[in-house]
Amino acid sequence: MLLYPMDKKYDMVILGAGINGVAIAKALALTGKKVLVVEKTHIAAGASSHSSRLIHGGLRYLENFEFDLVREALRDQKYLLDTYPGLVKLRSFYLPVCQNSMRPVWMIRLGLLIYGFFALHGHKPAEVEKKDFLIQFKAIKAHNLKIDM
Ligand SMILES: Cc1cc2nc3c(=O)[nH]c(=O)nc-3n(C[C@H](O)[C@H](O)[C@H](O)COP(=O)(O)OP(=O)(O)OC[C@H]3O[C@@H](n4cnc5c(N)ncnc54)[C@H](O)[C@@H]3O)c2cc1C
Repeated sequence: MLLYPMDKKYDMVILGAGINGVAIAKALALTGKKVLVVEKTHIAAGASSHSSRLIHGGLRYLENFEFDLVREALRDQKYLLDTYPGLVKLRSFYLPVCQNSMRPVWMIRLGLLIYGFFALHGHKPAEVEKKDFLIQFKAIKAHNLKIDM
């Protein structure tokens, strides 16, 4: 249990110490506001403890034409990369396109092209040949991957 002085006056009270609550508290504290964060369970008890910790730019929002949202997320990603180099690092991902993929290959290609165009970290998505991919990921069955790219 956390004890806090109830006789103290606060400028703001924030309910919930998830990533949003603590980030807002930090931003307010930096402007000199006295902030109280009240959490009913424990810090990051909710969705924040289940996150994959990816500072992604919201690739999938492109299919809803939410370009401004993706740009904003990628701007924030750059800010976090620059501001917290010890905590936020670039990681490479493979995005295998499987036979039962919900999206056609052209859509994934187009999405990654736009995503790469918006990204501010200077790394662009690249295509890897199926044979090279299978050498690295031996557990993946070749017949599950789309052959014609
Ligand atoms: C499996 C999974 C993977 C994810 N992966 C990613 C990812 O890779 N990248 C990404 O950006 N996002 C990811 N997300 C989404 C991300 O985790 C959430 O968007 C984010 O954690 C939401 O944070 P929050 O602070 O709004 O909510 P929460 O983390 O849920 O925080 C809300 C807090 O409020 C508290 N609370 C609720 N009611 C009260 C009350 N009445 N009084 C006091 N406290 C209260 C709760 O106990 C909780 O601690 C993922 C989500 C899931 C589920």
